[in-house]
Amino acid sequence: MTLSDTLKTLNAKVTAAAAGRPVRLMGVSKNVEAGRIEEALKAGQRLFGENYVQEAKSKWAGLKAQYPDARVNLIGPLQTNKAADAVELFDRIDSVDRPKLAHALADAMKKQGRQVPVLIEVNIGAEPQKHGCLLSDFPALLDLCNQLGLKVEGVMAIPPVGQEPDGWFRDLARLAIINHLPEISMGMSSDFERAIACGSTLVRVGTALFGERHKA
Ligand SMILES: *Cc1c(COP(=O)(O)O)cnc(C)c1O
Repeated sequence: MTLSDTLKTLNAKVTAAAAGRPVRLMGVSKNVEAGRIEEALKAGQRLFGENYVQEAKSKWAGLKAQYPDARVNLIGPLQTNKAADAVELFDRIDSVDRPKLAHALADAMKKQGRQVPVLIEVNIGAEPQKHGCLLSDFPALLDLCNQLGLKVEGVMAIPPVGQEPDGWFRDLARLAIINHLPEISMGMSSDFERAIACGSTLVRVGTALFGERHKA
């Protein structure tokens, strides 16, 4: 199958699972080379997720010049010393997970005169090794983001691997709904249809679109 055919199939699956609700497909292009991303752009894909600031910078300068309507979100963990680069480069930062980062992003946005919306990443399964804020810290982090003038559009999470994800998906959806946040970013290659059934508004698909990743 060509990448264009794969994309069509994925979009059809998303549409079917969404059952009339608006759900977007993000192409996760970490460790995917620019030429391959361009194939996806040619096939009509416009929303992408990248995990690393440096990698995204080197790949997307040229691609964005050619495809100015492409949107690239940061979905990987962000160090505060790269906050300014991230604000310059990305269309949204989906991995805000701690007060220090919220402050760094707000400072960078003020300096650059550029508002970049964000998602709060939640460590929904409270796993010790994972990024994301704990559910118990979420209300305070959301308040802080609002006070700092960050535009919080929603939440993102990766549920624990090797478990039924549906319960975690529903927890995340509930969190977004009670806080009146419209974007619920959940679901990846292996479980995006289930995530949509649980209320996802944005699925992040890497492997199922681009194939197995080759480590850079
Ligand atoms: C890599 C990654 C994905 C995509 O994972 P696949 O299983 O390849 O679809 C989605 N979300 C985040 C945060 C990622 O880091």
